[in-house]
Amino acid sequence: NRRILLAARPQGQPTLQDFHLDEAPVLTPKEGEVLLRTLYLSLDPYMRNLMDEIGPGYTPSVQVGETMVGGTVSRVVASKHPQFAVGDLVLGRAGWQDYAVSDGNELTPLGDMKRPSLALGGLGMPAFAAYVGLLDIGQPKAGETVVVAAATGAVGSVVGQIAKLKGARVVGIAGGADKCRYAVEELGFDVCLDRRDPQFAERLAAACPDGIDVYFENVGGEVFDAVVPLLNIGARVPVCGFIAHYNDETSPSSPDRLPRLMAVVLQKRVRMQGFIILDHYADRFEAFSRDMREWVEAGQIKLREDVIDGLEHAPAAFIGLLEGRNFGKLVVRVAEA
Ligand code: NDP
Repeated sequence: NRRILLAARPQGQPTLQDFHLDEAPVLTPKEGEVLLRTLYLSLDPYMRNLMDEIGPGYTPSVQVGETMVGGTVSRVVASKHPQFAVGDLVLGRAGWQDYAVSDGNELTPLGDMKRPSLALGGLGMPAFAAYVGLLDIGQPKAGETVVVAAATGAVGSVVGQIAKLKGARVVGIAGGADKCRYAVEELGFDVCLDRRDPQFAERLAAACPDGIDVYFENVGGEVFDAVVPLLNIGARVPVCGFIAHYNDETSPSSPDRLPRLMAVVLQKRVRMQGFIILDHYADRFEAFSRDMREWVEAGQIKLREDVIDGLEHAPAAFIGLLEGRNFGKLVVRVAEA
């Protein structure tokens, strides 16, 4: 069983040396357990937080020497569990490894899903975060301006497309001309701006002549700085993530932005609300699943995946995710379906 362990806690941006590819015998399932063969492994930004000693709080950190955790689509290859048969396709959390043993508690059957990797992206956790954050917290109305960064990624691409379906004007922000072209031409965003453009802040102001009503926060950093002065009275800011800071080692010594931010939150009556998608499965996943399947089948929402072949390439691909090298939902194909 090949598995990728956390070899060291990263200092800032992770490097390949922070991971170790290890080999161990494949375990045999006991009574009530199944053996899973990983087909697809999801790579997601939150994994960076789990590599730190003090993790994000909602889930434990990975310890040095342990297998990296992660969402997976797997095939049951041996079963001593009454509810699972050999050949079943399941969504679970087998982590960065070829095989895993499970007691079935965290497994969701996927039936004969045609593109099972979508259970990790467009029909799974990241798109669900887009749905809940945008619709329940952001609550965009027709004609309002919605801004979202990481606009071609797993979450952002879905945020922008749902906002368009709700009649909003959507301004995306992404890293590079190719991604921006895709956001406008394929995903139907009204505008998409390159976050690396030296004139980014001015261009954002020009692209939002009526201000910003919903800012779906995925990134923080310079994008957030450029957004704050443009927020309208009564703006909503669902706080989903702030990837620009996940590699920060200490608090920045740059100017204290807090007083300016607090002034805007107060004067513009801004509603900022953080959310962790794990909290919403019980009451919202069904509605999400129904709506999303309908939109995808009708061609109203497009889902792009960035598929990397081979478990051994997961560390480099994950480092690339934190640098914006992925284009679409990043998944590793660990074995042929
Ligand atoms: P993506 O597929 O969007 O990949 C990450 C993207 O972040 C990169 O491609 C890059 O896009 C962008 N990025 C990286 N560094 C920076 C930077 N310094 N400034 C601006 N953008 C940057 O990832 P996801 O869609 O999976 O995740 C998006 C966000 O949502 C993350 O913050 C993640 O933590 C959060 N999240 C939160 C959840 C929750 O429950 N609250 C659930 C799921 C995700 P580009 O180069 O195009 O700018």
